[in-house]
Amino acid sequence: MKEEKIDVLVIGAGPSGSVAASYLFNKGFSVKVVEKNKFPRFVIGESLIPRCMDHFEAVGLMDCLKEKGFEVKTGARFLQGKKVCEFDFSKKHTKGWDWTWQVPRAEFDKTLTDELLKRGVDVEFEKEVTGVSFNGNHSRTTIVDKEGTISEIEAKFIIDSSGFGRVLPRLLDLEKPSVIPKHSSIFTHVKDVRKPEGWEGHRITFDIVSQETWLWVIPFSNGYTSIGYVGPTDYLESFEGTTEERLRQMMKLSTHYNDRFDGLPYEFEPKMIKNIAKSVKQLYGKGYVLTGNSAEFLDPVFSSGVTFATESAHLSAQLIARELNGERVDWETEYSQYMLEGVDVFSTYVKEWYTGNLQKIFFTDSENPIIKKQICSVLAGYVWDRSNPFVKNHHRLVRTVAHITDMEKENAGQS
Ligand code: FAD
Repeated sequence: MKEEKIDVLVIGAGPSGSVAASYLFNKGFSVKVVEKNKFPRFVIGESLIPRCMDHFEAVGLMDCLKEKGFEVKTGARFLQGKKVCEFDFSKKHTKGWDWTWQVPRAEFDKTLTDELLKRGVDVEFEKEVTGVSFNGNHSRTTIVDKEGTISEIEAKFIIDSSGFGRVLPRLLDLEKPSVIPKHSSIFTHVKDVRKPEGWEGHRITFDIVSQETWLWVIPFSNGYTSIGYVGPTDYLESFEGTTEERLRQMMKLSTHYNDRFDGLPYEFEPKMIKNIAKSVKQLYGKGYVLTGNSAEFLDPVFSSGVTFATESAHLSAQLIARELNGERVDWETEYSQYMLEGVDVFSTYVKEWYTGNLQKIFFTDSENPIIKKQICSVLAGYVWDRSNPFVKNHHRLVRTVAHITDMEKENAGQS
């Protein structure tokens, strides 16, 4: 059996794995990425938010992405019946990137791994991690290739960036139920041949069909658009037929988009992911760390997935580099607490979206530009900026402002 010894093993070559591997390789460590699939492969998560640009830039993966001409995203638009709420990332409280991209992930992720391979990073495809054991800080990982050949890797550190594969959470019994409501999603791509005249694709749209159910419309620069419904699992399952038949029935509920997409062929049989939210008991242990979706996933509503994936990858890679260089790292405060602070902010926004409180603020008739800028920073992924009251006081501020919005509405009705 083939055996290898390296510094860091990265499981999974999504954005999280690529950012982590790039950082450690640049710092001179021996890194290996093992990826179950052959690239390009489909994965959902197509609308990015600006914060992830910091990470791609920091690890030297920005130029290869810029060359690809992905659709630039400058904001997000929320529709509720006749009401419209637009966020423009250039009008936000926190300094930082004011644009990002809307990307078909198959091409986006392959761009990242092609760049790693070009630089000489060891990335192996069609190799699946099936087992792991720890001896002190050192680990032995079992890998099976597509012919069924088994090999082993001894690594000083494992970064689990396996996304919904959730390799270490499963192998080490780290999974725990999420506190986010049980939502599911059905989605596909469509050749967007009926775009309205003068239409620009620089932002994504959320069509709010009901308090808990919404449709995303994410245009790409290649002429295709991603459409997908998110809603309570029971509700999505109440539609009958194949996933295509279900999605077509749900599209009819969208007053804004039914005409544009009705009858157009779907590029692939719509995929359904059930009970999206995931959580874990701990984000790290001796000799390993969980990043991206392998650690935590809340909900697609604010497109935070890739940014959490790259934030956790970049941070954990920096901490591993320090530890391998003999420095002491306090993983609890420097990694876990930091990441969970960001998760906590976003989970307030996700929960308050579905209680309807955030929707009241978004669709109020008396919009406050300062509040808008502060919320825009959260939506751009700058959820660690405690100078932003909507970060620092997220637990109570969203509810309080929603309550005031209600009172204003009541008063306006009485006068
Ligand atoms: P991934 O990109 O999933 O990559 C993990 C990789 O690990 C995969 O390539 C997989 O093949 C590999 N792998 C798995 N198991 C193994 C194994 N045993 N051995 C080796 N390799 C393995 N995020 C956004 O930012 N914007 C959005 O608009 C958005 N929309 C979403 C909509 C839905 C319906 C859902 C469910 C999620 C959405 N997300 C979105 C979240 C997004 O999909 C993820 O957060 C993001 O892809 C996480 O990146 P990652 O690198 O952690 O994992």
